[in-house]
Amino acid sequence: MDIRIGNGYDVHALAQGLPMWLGGVQIPSETGFVAHSDGDVAIHALCDALLGCLAVGDIGHLFPDTSDEWKGIDSKILLTNVVSLVQEHGYRVGNVDITIALQRPKLSPYITAMRETLSPILGVSPERISVKATTTERLGFVGRCEGCEVWASALIIGD
Ligand code: MG
Repeated sequence: MDIRIGNGYDVHALAQGLPMWLGGVQIPSETGFVAHSDGDVAIHALCDALLGCLAVGDIGHLFPDTSDEWKGIDSKILLTNVVSLVQEHGYRVGNVDITIALQRPKLSPYITAMRETLSPILGVSPERISVKATTTERLGFVGRCEGCEVWASALIIGD
């Protein structure tokens, strides 16, 4: 069996009055992410994990933040393009695992919605999509509510 793994990492800064998108779901919050796109840092890390599986560079290379084409774009569209690339290379998604470090708000009420939102895009059942959330116990830039940090792993299977 031909399997490949990849990992991805992303950070976005938080600012007052911006929308907060995580895992394709809008989270009610007083702060949101500073970004060229919608700032969905969880999807960005996941895209990089999938691109890492293929060893074809990263999300910034594929969707440059200097391009107007991607300005304010829904990150679900970026992920859809990345999954198409996975398929073009002859693979399908096996499973993914995402860890989000955010001090607040609490993300546990939104985890199920994230898994269900990502499921049709990735072409796998929610049982193959893990989304975990943690605070950093008020330590570091995450703990000071200055930003959000996300790690993602992905496994793809050759068809
Ligand atoms: Mg990003």
